[in-house]
Amino acid sequence: MTHEEIATRLQEALGKDRVLTGDENVAPYMKERRGFYPGQGRIVVLPENTTQVSEAIRTCTATGAKVVPQSGNTGLVGGGSPRNETEVVLSLRKMNRVRRIDADDNTMVAEAGCVLRDLQKAAADMDRLFPLSLPSEFQCCIGGNLATNAGGLNVVQYGNTRALTLGLEVVLPDGRIWSGLSALHKDNSGYDLKDLFIGSEGTLGVITAATLRLFPRPRQRRVALVALRDLAAALPLLRAAQAESGDAVVACEVMGAGAVAMPVRHIPGCTNPLPGAPWYLLLELATPDPRADLAAALDAALETARRTGGMKGAEVAEDERGGAALWRLRTCIPGTQGHEGASIKHDISVPVHQLPTFVEAALAAVAAEDPTVRPCVFGHVGDGNLHFNLTQPEGWEADAFMERRPRFNQLIHDLVMRFDGSVAAEHGVGQIKGEEMRRRRDPVAHDLMRRIKTALDPDDLMNPGKVVLG
Ligand SMILES: Cc1cc2nc3c(=O)[nH]c(=O)nc-3n(C[C@H](O)[C@H](O)[C@H](O)COP(=O)(O)OP(=O)(O)OC[C@H]3O[C@@H](n4cnc5c(N)ncnc54)[C@H](O)[C@@H]3O)c2cc1C
Repeated sequence: MTHEEIATRLQEALGKDRVLTGDENVAPYMKERRGFYPGQGRIVVLPENTTQVSEAIRTCTATGAKVVPQSGNTGLVGGGSPRNETEVVLSLRKMNRVRRIDADDNTMVAEAGCVLRDLQKAAADMDRLFPLSLPSEFQCCIGGNLATNAGGLNVVQYGNTRALTLGLEVVLPDGRIWSGLSALHKDNSGYDLKDLFIGSEGTLGVITAATLRLFPRPRQRRVALVALRDLAAALPLLRAAQAESGDAVVACEVMGAGAVAMPVRHIPGCTNPLPGAPWYLLLELATPDPRADLAAALDAALETARRTGGMKGAEVAEDERGGAALWRLRTCIPGTQGHEGASIKHDISVPVHQLPTFVEAALAAVAAEDPTVRPCVFGHVGDGNLHFNLTQPEGWEADAFMERRPRFNQLIHDLVMRFDGSVAAEHGVGQIKGEEMRRRRDPVAHDLMRRIKTALDPDDLMNPGKVVLG
């Protein structure tokens, strides 16, 4: 069927208001952050409840259309972009209710289109913490977070999205609804189905709601920026802070000098209080224990780093405002990279203790290839996850630099594999890494993934051409 006929059938099934057509109307859903995979679709469906999602999927099956689920559309790997005009964007944005929140159970049931920031607030209103936090939290939604198994800033303490999830509601490719919104902390009654859908990037079904874990809300918080002598000093400092504080480190972010320079140059009022170091560590300690002495714990950890010579200086925030100012140095890096020109990005992970050796080898490899390329390296050092990004040399044309993307990708990703790492650490596979994953994935793992995809979605209805290629 043509896209016009598909749209008509969807309008008949769901009502005209829930189906967008026309270039102007669908344009916001076709934007793709990095500009590599602008959406080619002509239809967007906006269901308001799970039954309508099921109806939309059945109609797509009947018309031969494919389904591309989308939540906040902040993904960085082209996973939410339709590849042609008969791929229908199924946007969850109108499914944005918190269905239940229970402070005794420490759980919340939220629909896929709830913006992450709103869920953090809903938990705080109940004197609880929902710890998932990403720089995109004002736009991304929990459905997308689940579908990408998002990581972010607090993984070192609370784990990634998978670890925060007890149950899911999913509409399957055949239109059936799996009501798995369990609030059970223990349930060994067979395969853990929710874990199949978490991180599947819309290729196995549409996540419509989730039961999420809540935690006691921190009563105190300390934030420090530490200037390091070298990257090798980061891990001992993290371990010292964990030991001194009774494991109260909730975030531990590393930033190279080239990365910190970005927000400082491009955000008015954003300053680096400790200029001149090659590496920086942003540490946040927090605890629900009102009697704990976090300030003393942080001081003790910093003193250890000073004694061992790993630290060049430290700035400890006096209050929330000061802490927020230090955090801006980190959270504004992704948004300001673009001001410096094109970026070749690598979202990678290696075993935590290998990070300094990996980075040394990777920087040497980049310099040997082209010493004018500007590394912009930052990330979640406690999880071994780095954004090893390369900014175009000054004076270069963006297009000319991006032509070298395959070469730099290969250089860095080969090295990652040598360190037993992952070339898709937290952003997912989407379109951008599908081909590469087919080549690099363990063949047994790839075969299992293909079988799972075929078993659940034999007609390749859900998000084709993403994650697991044939
Ligand atoms: C400035 C910035 C900073 C970022 N920082 C981080 C970070 O620190 N850590 C991190 O992990 N990510 C980060 N990201 C990437 C992105 O925000 C995350 O991947 C986020 O989880 C995507 O959520 P979303 O709602 O925007 O999903 P979308 O972009 O809408 O979709 C992402 C993928 O999930 C699928 N999908 C979406 N909704 C559903 C659903 N309901 N059911 C099934 N499949 C679905 C889509 O098809 C697509 O493949 C960042 C992005 C930006 C722009």
